[in-house]
Amino acid sequence: MANRCITGTPMPNTFPSAGSEPVAPLLRAAGISKRYGNCIANDAIHLDVYPGEIHAILGENGAGKSTLVKVIYGLIQPNAGELRFMGRRIVLAGPAAARALGIAMVFQHFSLFENLTVAENVALGLPLPEPFAAICARLAKTALAYGLPLDPRREVWRLSVGERQRIEIVRALMQNPKLLILDEPTAVLTPQEADQLFVVLNRLKNEGRSILYISHKLDEVQRLCDTATVLRAGKKVATCDPRRETAASLARMMVGADVDRVKASRARGASVPRLVIDRLSLSADGPHEGRLKEVSLKVCGGEIVGIAGVAGNGQDELFAALSGERLAANAETILIDGRAAGLFGVTERRRLGAAFVPEERLGRGAVPRMKLSENALLTGHVASGMVKRGFIDKRETLAAADRIAATFDVRKAKRDPEAASLSGGNLQKFMVGREILREPGFLVVSQPTWGVDAGAAATIRQALIDLAGRGTAVLVISQDLDELAEISDRIAVIFDGNLSAPLAASAASREILGLLMGGAAIEPRACPQEEKHAVDA
Ligand code: ADP
Repeated sequence: MANRCITGTPMPNTFPSAGSEPVAPLLRAAGISKRYGNCIANDAIHLDVYPGEIHAILGENGAGKSTLVKVIYGLIQPNAGELRFMGRRIVLAGPAAARALGIAMVFQHFSLFENLTVAENVALGLPLPEPFAAICARLAKTALAYGLPLDPRREVWRLSVGERQRIEIVRALMQNPKLLILDEPTAVLTPQEADQLFVVLNRLKNEGRSILYISHKLDEVQRLCDTATVLRAGKKVATCDPRRETAASLARMMVGADVDRVKASRARGASVPRLVIDRLSLSADGPHEGRLKEVSLKVCGGEIVGIAGVAGNGQDELFAALSGERLAANAETILIDGRAAGLFGVTERRRLGAAFVPEERLGRGAVPRMKLSENALLTGHVASGMVKRGFIDKRETLAAADRIAATFDVRKAKRDPEAASLSGGNLQKFMVGREILREPGFLVVSQPTWGVDAGAAATIRQALIDLAGRGTAVLVISQDLDELAEISDRIAVIFDGNLSAPLAASAASREILGLLMGGAAIEPRACPQEEKHAVDA
């Protein structure tokens, strides 16, 4: 039977309605299959979405969630199966056809032109030409009605990530959708902004609209969603009421096995500072870049320091300054194992034992069209036996890629595929693994589990904890407060280029961090030499 839980709590055959009449689904996806070569991304998936329902799609990375919603949004044509919308069979030639029916989608990565205003961006996304003044009026009305404040005349580059998301949501709502699809919408929000988004989503639900909600945050799904459909390896494995499940039981459905919580097994204790940042300032590199203002921090071997913050507050600049992509004004601003490294480039810093995992997996972290072994060479060549007398030892690079894949459970279709062919989570495991296996003295990693499923996230977090346990200084830049709370010893917040004093993780409540992330009074930082360094033992 279609609408029945397979491994979770049993579900009724129809979505509960106010009366006793069974309610017909707004959307039925029946037997949707999509194949890419040998990979079955969606395998005969059945999904019913009812009116006024917030329906989560859960699954590990590569489980088939994006493929399914892209089929529903008309971006991908399935190989088999059919879609029914309001009882009628539909064939979607493209997203425009989906939007015309009342299906809207907000993607995780926004499609906005930074130099255009809010209203201009909205106008570009509308299906029919409309006088600009009318668009502005409609925009303001929709924004006001849903409590999503936006200034139509403001240029996008001036806006926070949360405000940019608002544009996408308002643009979708201006099409008066019956079904709104959201892909990981809270990944870029502060806890307070996420709470505001939930108010809007519940409001849409109460208006009878349906929401398909992709998220990896199980607690959020339990708080918000009426139903969850769980996918695993392209197949639907369960439809359940997430509120009647535990986070552990949902994770088990997703992964097919128990997901270990990370274990703080390392012997902790204050040790020698391996990274010292002393009053690091960086000017804006372009009109859309942020600045760093006298950032100071000390990270000792054996500890993980987390940097929380809403995207766009200087995280990219901090990462670039630490990795050597941007140089500091003087060498002493950044000390790596006591060596003044502020004027060193990336390779020289790697030689000092530093390692870097950037947020952007494809392009910056890995070259998409290069094989994994070649990507292993890119950062590993400085200290490994991969290059001998100026020649690349291909056996060695392949062996390195094999080692990374085996240690970090990187799932791939063949032995040495191109980086671009891996799912996001598997590529992330590869990139983190590549740096960890070099046993760096200092590692900075940005958004280590961005868009990564629970199983892969647990693997990566455990690997970071174990690395710190072996004496490495680990700096984690992340927007995920749960992640930071789980792995960090201390947490600092970056806002508008200023870094707050780090708090012991036990003292850094979500409320305090959320306030700091929103710009509430941040104490000026003491120079680290004067700072009394506190790592809880
Ligand atoms: P999820 O959104 O759950 O992470 P996806 O739907 O993106 O999963 O991917 C499902 C599977 O299909 C993965 O194994 C992925 O590698 C594969 N896949 C997705 N898109 C393509 C594509 N354009 N070409 C080849 N394989 C793809």
